[in-house]
Amino acid sequence: MKPILPLFIFIDACGWELIRNDPFARDFAPNRRRLESVFGYSSACVPSILSGRWPQEHRNWCYFVYDPKHSPFKALRPLRWLPRAVTSRRIFRRWLSRFVRARLNFCGYFDLYNIPFKYISLFDFTEKNSPLKPGGMNCGPNIFDFLELRDIPCHVSDPAKSELENLEDITADIDSERIGFAFIYWPELDGLLHRVGNQSPEVPLKLRQYEQWIKRLLAAAQEHYEEVRLYVFSDHGMANCEELLDLKTRIEALEARMAHDYVVVYDSTMARFWFFNERARREIGECLRQVPQGRIVPDDELDELRAFFPDRYFGELIFLVREGVLIVPSDMGARPLRAMHGYHPRDKQSYAALLTNQPEIPDDITAIPDIFRLMTRDAELARARNRSRNQEPASVDSRSQDFDASDAVVTGTRTTPEIIGLGESSGGAGGFPRR
Ligand SMILES: [Zn+2]
Repeated sequence: MKPILPLFIFIDACGWELIRNDPFARDFAPNRRRLESVFGYSSACVPSILSGRWPQEHRNWCYFVYDPKHSPFKALRPLRWLPRAVTSRRIFRRWLSRFVRARLNFCGYFDLYNIPFKYISLFDFTEKNSPLKPGGMNCGPNIFDFLELRDIPCHVSDPAKSELENLEDITADIDSERIGFAFIYWPELDGLLHRVGNQSPEVPLKLRQYEQWIKRLLAAAQEHYEEVRLYVFSDHGMANCEELLDLKTRIEALEARMAHDYVVVYDSTMARFWFFNERARREIGECLRQVPQGRIVPDDELDELRAFFPDRYFGELIFLVREGVLIVPSDMGARPLRAMHGYHPRDKQSYAALLTNQPEIPDDITAIPDIFRLMTRDAELARARNRSRNQEPASVDSRSQDFDASDAVVTGTRTTPEIIGLGESSGGAGGFPRR
């Protein structure tokens, strides 16, 4: 028996509204709290949880940015001559995404989504490393740097494996008493919600399955650890899409021309623009102000959401739609989805959830980046207790005392040397792209 196992279970898209009136996990994690999410998609939320910092500090925000100088996609431009019937097919995009990911040695999640090949060489992809690994952030350290520096053996889910395969792996790690920290990531609920919406009977069924899995894990952990500190949490919720907005057709009807006067990335709930002249800036700004389904987010509001980038790396103008509106077609997908996230963090369905078997959640845990503080606190506690049992010194060496999560100046951009194979990336079953 070992003294302590901190068990952090991340269920993608298990939002507060989804579980508020559901008994989910009440038996074994009765202490619950609503958490504010981070403005952006999983590409922003997951790194924020893993680093304890916000997008403007870690610079993992949206996947595609206008940066032709650094674009790794120049070799894909000839594909623009292929018929749209081929290049817009999900199966083709999925196959090509895997090929490109391996060729470019991208270590994190990668998908070409629906970016037109005509323009692909204008863009860079911002998540070249995996935030689920040490050194995986664009800027600064993450929880895995923290654990590595302290020599804390951990389990982390492998996004290339299914939820069930990962469940087998963590059970084996628990049985061996090898680990002093566990981070489990389950992405399938997110994919399910995108497909069926938040009112489908399939959703509570999936929650019941997760409950069974967590109960099994807890039972296994309690056989090998005297105390299991369980935290189940999410990154955002999910809103049903009630209205589709074809923003692309409206913008393309203007005089300003894509790639000549401006560049845009149409995300599912946002459009991000870069301008090459004042005429385009004015014309597009006026057009967007006439679109009742959304609004231009002012810089001071972006700053308040801690997603303002003074170098305009992620776009000079950010247009955001109202909760329940979906931009279709977009560069993320050609077809409508039943539900989406990435709306304003204070829209009703955006809120995330934290559930725990611990009697108290500190008052300053209010937003998803704060989960990082729970992780580091419990990892330190487990380290000290698990080591003192082995009569090893529990002190942290001087090098790791220098570690400060708020120190955003440290760059974590080292290249992970390993070459990742062609395994399927996270994002749910059936090749559904992560959003
Ligand atoms: Zn999603």
